[in-house]
Amino acid sequence: MTAALEMVDVSKTFPLARRLTHPGRREVHAVSHVDLTLHRGKITAVIGESGSGKSTIARLMAQLYKPTSGQIKLDGKPVEVRNGRQLRKYVGDVQLILQDPFGSFNPVHTIEYALRRAVTIHHGKLPASELDARVGALLEEVRLTPPRQFTAKYPHELSGGQRQRISIARALAASPTVLLADEPVSMLDVSIRLGVLNLLERLVTERDLALLYITHDIASARYFASTASVMYAGELVEGGPAEAVTQKPAHPYTKLLIDSAPDPGKAPADRIKDNGQPPSLISPPTGCRFHPRCPFAMPRCSTEAPPRFDLGAGQWARCWLHSSSKE
Ligand code: ADP
Ligand code: MG
Repeated sequence: MTAALEMVDVSKTFPLARRLTHPGRREVHAVSHVDLTLHRGKITAVIGESGSGKSTIARLMAQLYKPTSGQIKLDGKPVEVRNGRQLRKYVGDVQLILQDPFGSFNPVHTIEYALRRAVTIHHGKLPASELDARVGALLEEVRLTPPRQFTAKYPHELSGGQRQRISIARALAASPTVLLADEPVSMLDVSIRLGVLNLLERLVTERDLALLYITHDIASARYFASTASVMYAGELVEGGPAEAVTQKPAHPYTKLLIDSAPDPGKAPADRIKDNGQPPSLISPPTGCRFHPRCPFAMPRCSTEAPPRFDLGAGQWARCWLHSSSKE
């Protein structure tokens, strides 16, 4: 199976302004040495707490940021976006869906205007009848029917769920092969999240899309994704089939994430205890970045960063507890 979009050993640091109190050069290590692959027809989840670097991954994949080091490949070829024309071609293939679609719609224009514009940007000027047909088909595809009930509306006249469907329709207007969904349902009412996730799942199958699903909700990743990676402090610490990662977690941090998700059926005594906070990304902990919080930390954990240990059946973890497994 060839990769649709791939990150190979990608890191991204953001420089910080020098201060009198910190005259040296300082930077935020937002994403460090990330390898991540998206496949056509598959949903790949990246799970992590706020501030762990998830949106930076989406923005790197969308070419909104340049990697500090490492490489991004589309259909096996290294991506080089140096000018506007190359960027337009790239966003025809790779589309980003944000958590809050409201911010990305111009409030003075109707839905029809926004969708016509998206179609025209990616497919050139079309006869009015064909443009209308395409806009109608997009609205039907995201189940906003009948389309004419929505075309004349303004973004503020729609519910959050409807707005997110419009932003999905706008992304589809480009006929992309890859969709990057950065916490696409976390701002929506719980009651409508499932509908939007089911829509994305159907589009992945029908259009054979590669979908990156970014979330802080590990339970939704299990339900929704085929493969999942867990992110901590800018690094991927575990990955594999979503079922294995969420049901048989191998990294203590993944266990902690699962234990801190609300589960009324579980006694508090069974849970990993943790009062810790994610570390500073300006001077991340040495060795394994999770070691200051880890209940199983050993001496080497604070000095040596663990490699990926292969646990079989596609699952892997960066944790010295698995050092008897294959590197
Ligand atoms: P998440 O989406 O998981 O909440 P982000 O990728 O937004 O995490 O951020 C990861 C880290 O990088 C955070 O510490 C954040 O403050 C920092 N960061 C993100 N974007 C920038 C930026 N443009 N400049 C400086 N720091 C940034
Ligand atoms: Mg984010």
